[in-house]
Amino acid sequence: MSLTPSDPPERFDVAAARGRVLKSVAQAAEAAGRRASDISLVAVSKVQPDLRIEAMLETGQRIFGENRVQEAYEHWAIRRGSYADLQLHLIGPLQTNKAKDAVALFDVIETLDRLKLARALADARLAVGRDVDILVQVNTGDEPQKSGVAPREADAFIETVRKEFGLEPVGLMCIPPQDEPSGPHFALLAQIARRQGLTTLSMGMSSDFETAVRFGSTHVRIGSALFGDRM
Ligand SMILES: *Cc1c(COP(=O)(O)O)cnc(C)c1O
Repeated sequence: MSLTPSDPPERFDVAAARGRVLKSVAQAAEAAGRRASDISLVAVSKVQPDLRIEAMLETGQRIFGENRVQEAYEHWAIRRGSYADLQLHLIGPLQTNKAKDAVALFDVIETLDRLKLARALADARLAVGRDVDILVQVNTGDEPQKSGVAPREADAFIETVRKEFGLEPVGLMCIPPQDEPSGPHFALLAQIARRQGLTTLSMGMSSDFETAVRFGSTHVRIGSALFGDRM
């Protein structure tokens, strides 16, 4: 019996899917002369049923990504108590009025993309008394509908965030345009990170994570290849 991502939730075998993804990550790492252990698998659990989230936790997976604050609370506020080693990443756009909620729940916020949000995050860290890692999202394709700092403004943005708000981003994140090869976008992101001395690169999704590993990704964000189609 072969299981495909479109099988219903009770039939999709997330443990097998995770095994396949981890194996592909390891192979891509080896081909690139990198260590598989330098690449973290962020399991994107947005819009997934509880059954699949529970099954994924059972495999030992502990790093999860969500793209909405409210949904992340529904998925994780209670589960957090049972898994001390959980690591939650916010990978979707963040409104300034949700900054405090985000800082209270997430361990990593991958989508800093404007100065107003930098201020809100700096304030939220003080108010909540909790440190979170911050990545700057770069709109490598300069797409008008996509969030992220424009590539040509990224250096100045990062420097301002450091100087004005005392935030020290640990890395960069990007979502390449759907209709273009991802490689050049990953290369651009890696180049900006190198220039800025940043070591974390969140890049690569179900369709392009092997390419991302080749270009130095440290965090691949994978949804459908791990959980099956979003419902
Ligand atoms: C949904 C999402 C993913 C996962 O996408 P898949 O193609 O299902 O792997 C990764 N990154 C971001 C920012 C997302 O919103």
